[in-house]
Amino acid sequence: MKLDELLVRRGVSRRSALIAGASTLMAAGTAGVVSLFSSETSSSEASSAGTASPGAPSTGAPSAGAAGGAPGRAAGAPGALGRARSPVSSSYRLSPLAGFAPVRPARTPVRDEPFLRVGGLGRTVVLTFDDGPDPRYTPEILRTLGEHGLQAMFFVCGNMAKANPDLLRRVSAEGHVIGNHTWSHPLLTRLSRSAVRAEMERTSEIVEKTCGERPAWFRAPYGAWNREAYRFGAELGMEPMAWTVDTLDWRSPGVGAIADTVEKEASPGAVVLSHDAGGNRSQSVQALRRYLPRLLEEGYHVAVPRRRAV
Ligand SMILES: [Zn+2]
Repeated sequence: MKLDELLVRRGVSRRSALIAGASTLMAAGTAGVVSLFSSETSSSEASSAGTASPGAPSTGAPSAGAAGGAPGRAAGAPGALGRARSPVSSSYRLSPLAGFAPVRPARTPVRDEPFLRVGGLGRTVVLTFDDGPDPRYTPEILRTLGEHGLQAMFFVCGNMAKANPDLLRRVSAEGHVIGNHTWSHPLLTRLSRSAVRAEMERTSEIVEKTCGERPAWFRAPYGAWNREAYRFGAELGMEPMAWTVDTLDWRSPGVGAIADTVEKEASPGAVVLSHDAGGNRSQSVQALRRYLPRLLEEGYHVAVPRRRAV
């Protein structure tokens, strides 16, 4: 993965950014692992995300003020966390409303690196498919996932979404998570700030217009993130997600090679990158049919992260 820049965002001190980062890592336990289940996530959301089986106990989900919760709010809206947490009793008596002022909705924090994996859910992997939707490949992937009753993430391009609205609606209707992968798949690091914004904004808009809900996740094309991508992503209510396992399926290395990569590199919390568009993806389609049953046999759950869009 290419991280062009490690940035401390404007308006937030280096120290508070470090504190936020430290909290995240402490909660996750391992560098690069961020729990995706914030304290604002309901237990039903957490349980549906934690496993494909509805009604699974939610105890596995961490109370992660970690990812989207406390650190983000502390960083994005200084002071909000303190007010929400501990109304002081004397101020309560003197001014009852002061301690119970409505808590502003949590802003999506501006990250300086993407999530690489999900944490806290044991042997769970997240499957992600980029660049679609594409009528040649996406339906087959949906069929395979559907046969197992599983959900995945689809990081779609706006121009593909616009060209295939019914397919996009189907992806959403079948419970998969739709992420923003920009409009035309450019290298964001070579674009002007306004162009980056337009790429991301238009894509969120077409997804909302088509499916009724804005994406809560985004992924930079080629894994080339920059300050604007993080900042506009946060403004649009999205968290950045990269991946743990790169199948390199875009190189068409063979169905066996793709499946082997997933099987060998799968680990608890891994996010698997593959593609359902952007070229001939027939190997990706076939590989999924091969590695998915094997992952399940090995005791992995396949799930998608949920987070409340803000
Ligand atoms: Zn892509």
